[in-house]
Amino acid sequence: MQMCFDGRLGFPCSFVGAQGSSLDGMNRELHRERGNVVAAFRMEHSDYRSSHLVDGQCVVAHFYAKRLTQEQLQAVEARAPQAKDHWLEVLGLVRVLLYILRDGVGDLPTFIGTAWEQLLEAARHGPMETKMRTSV
Ligand code: MG
Repeated sequence: MQMCFDGRLGFPCSFVGAQGSSLDGMNRELHRERGNVVAAFRMEHSDYRSSHLVDGQCVVAHFYAKRLTQEQLQAVEARAPQAKDHWLEVLGLVRVLLYILRDGVGDLPTFIGTAWEQLLEAARHGPMETKMRTSV
């Protein structure tokens, strides 16, 4: 996933017109947001997973997914900062946990909740004061 310019986690995406191809749009955005490294593994029709209507908007989101080797994933992560839209539309890549622990400690929802609270604390009091508070 990626940290988007609006502070949300998301995937490469873009708008295509009613006559446009979601697959062409997906490959165009992958190139803009990940760079030339994705030329080795273009999305194909077989990578299509689902579509859904975005709440409150006249937008249908089409979702594609592709399995990469560990080496391909590492190459994408290493070279993504050189992509055209990196630092504009994309602020960074994020590996997210795809599981929820039974005890609710250490999984993604817990991590995001804690990070959000820490960010708010730093915004209210500044990073130095927050650091001192957490060390007590
Ligand atoms: Mg985009």
